Amino acid sequence: MDMLRLLSEMPKVDLHIHLDGCVKPATLMRLADQRGIALPSNVESDLLPYVQVGEDCTNLTEYLTKFDFVLPFLQTGEALEQVAFEVVEQAAEHRIRYIEVRFAPQLHRKDGLSAGDSIHHVIEGLKRGEARFGVKARVIAICMRNHSVAANMEVIEAASHYLGHGLVAVDLAGDETTYPASLFREVFALARTLGIPVTIHAGEAAGPENIEEAVLHLGASRIGHGVRLKESASVMSMIRELRIPLELCPTSNIQTKAVNGWDAYPIREYYDQGILFTVNTDNPGVSGTDITKEYRVIAEKFGFTLVEITTLILNGVEASFLESNEKADLKRDFEEILEKLGVYDLKKH
Ligand SMILES: [Zn+2]
Repeated sequence: MDMLRLLSEMPKVDLHIHLDGCVKPATLMRLADQRGIALPSNVESDLLPYVQVGEDCTNLTEYLTKFDFVLPFLQTGEALEQVAFEVVEQAAEHRIRYIEVRFAPQLHRKDGLSAGDSIHHVIEGLKRGEARFGVKARVIAICMRNHSVAANMEVIEAASHYLGHGLVAVDLAGDETTYPASLFREVFALARTLGIPVTIHAGEAAGPENIEEAVLHLGASRIGHGVRLKESASVMSMIRELRIPLELCPTSNIQTKAVNGWDAYPIREYYDQGILFTVNTDNPGVSGTDITKEYRVIAEKFGFTLVEITTLILNGVEASFLESNEKADLKRDFEEILEKLGVYDLKKH
């Protein structure tokens, strides 16, 4: 089997994918129709510029505007279930066998859902997808940087009721430049008190000080992106020693200008220096990508070999927020498939 075929066939995980960054134009048209909202066009391809960025995207703020277009259609339990189900369907098409889907409950309440209701509906959609497509799927609830402490505390509180019942962690996302991680200590102290694992978007639109703050004061055991880690040697060695995985999302990281182009993307440097990281899609719809493409890009641009990619895939299993027995099962499952594909030798591990 050639490399491209293998990349597509290999079992994969996606640990960093946003629910509202995966809505297909066809689904959007259906949801708009149900709600009686007119779209700028009724031709699928004409809708793409409204929901997708290109390489000419100037920064994270511009990237985030694409979500404003989609959010009004994701305000009912039914819509949330449908979109969550489709995320699992799309994952299955790319041989993803485990996915952690994140979304911000407070952004889906315009029609009267509570934060807890919205989590419930996303979990229901994922469960339906899991049953249909055999992809294990869990939720991460996101707190927003531009929301009040009270609104974010409400998310943590709601998330705690679903921990172990479909939800695995909480996160912080949004405008990192304006709202540094240090503003959210109280919010994530509550997550720690309630025993909810934490991942934080950091080192994407702002520097490594946000990564340091997320780990030391917000209790992050993973970092969303962390692309700018390399700007501080001391934070870099801390992340290496604590074995905190970065959730890298190559295409998205280039589009949001976390670094200035592929030449400056530090993925090879991080690999060679022993920084743990996983490869993820962030927003397949907005970025026009999928997980197979992400692996193809790092193979083509940075010379990642099949052996190295196998390591990255298994890093992803290890970095998942699954319970340890489920994680062990998943790892076994992956190793067996990888061995059958001829890229892994169980006897050597
Ligand atoms: Zn993200």
